[in-house]
Amino acid sequence: MTIASRAASANDYVRQHSTHPLISRQKAEDTARAAVRLAALLGVDPANVEPKHSWNYLSLPLAPLTLHASDPDDPTQVYTFSYRDPLCDDEPFYLLGPCPVCEAAVPLAEIRSLADLGAFLADGPAPLPDNGILPSSYPDEFDRHPAHSSACPFWDSES
Ligand SMILES: [Zn+2]
Repeated sequence: MTIASRAASANDYVRQHSTHPLISRQKAEDTARAAVRLAALLGVDPANVEPKHSWNYLSLPLAPLTLHASDPDDPTQVYTFSYRDPLCDDEPFYLLGPCPVCEAAVPLAEIRSLADLGAFLADGPAPLPDNGILPSSYPDEFDRHPAHSSACPFWDSES
């Protein structure tokens, strides 16, 4: 696919998803643009990236935004990412996956480029030591993420 046709496809995607019955045009467009950025990062067509509850059922609040990216060459393979706020266009994506302790879906890796995803897929999540110190390969967002179960040492006991 040429760069021009990929760009046209991205533009169509943003236009198509910028009108929504419940969400302002600005917010819907920002959300679609975040999806397009993730698609570009992964090297897939934007059609392979969908928000958590699909475009028709986008629910407020939109932040953090959860996006599912399916692999065009292996549709059974779906990667789930969160994005802190679609209004900001310079945030990293976070790959969501099961916490090694409580198995809740939490941010396991900060993904700013395809190489970051490659590094995570090569190494997997680092084992968590008993001393409670988070290995540097984990994003800060892992710790105290609200999805951890209350029995997990990384659960935020203050929330
Ligand atoms: Zn946990």
